[in-house]
Amino acid sequence: MMRPELTSDIPEWNAGNLPPDTCCRAGILADLNAGWRTVRPVVDAERCKGCYKCYLHCPDGTIGMDSGKASVDYNFCKGCGICARICPFDCITMEAEE
Ligand code: SF4
Ligand code: SF4
Repeated sequence: MMRPELTSDIPEWNAGNLPPDTCCRAGILADLNAGWRTVRPVVDAERCKGCYKCYLHCPDGTIGMDSGKASVDYNFCKGCGICARICPFDCITMEAEE
């Protein structure tokens, strides 16, 4: 998972306000999901506009941006569904864990 860089491809409206991290720096999160998550967010990359809203709102900082598309780190995602609710383009769906 790639972390976003503060470059000119970030929308003008938040270029100066985008935090380098949403929660903790990579490598700090210590508690791997131990199998209790019942649903997981699945990003439709075709529809993702790269707006960073899910990235900014994920309480666990488990969403990164990969080539302008949201990417979830399932090792740490707790399945709360906030990202799916906040996405303005409805391109994240919560799907049952198998
Ligand atoms: S379901 Fe919750 S923890 Fe998982 S990526 Fe979305 S907002 Fe983050
Ligand atoms: S909120 Fe939706 S459109 Fe925006 S980056 Fe996340 S998945 Fe993509």
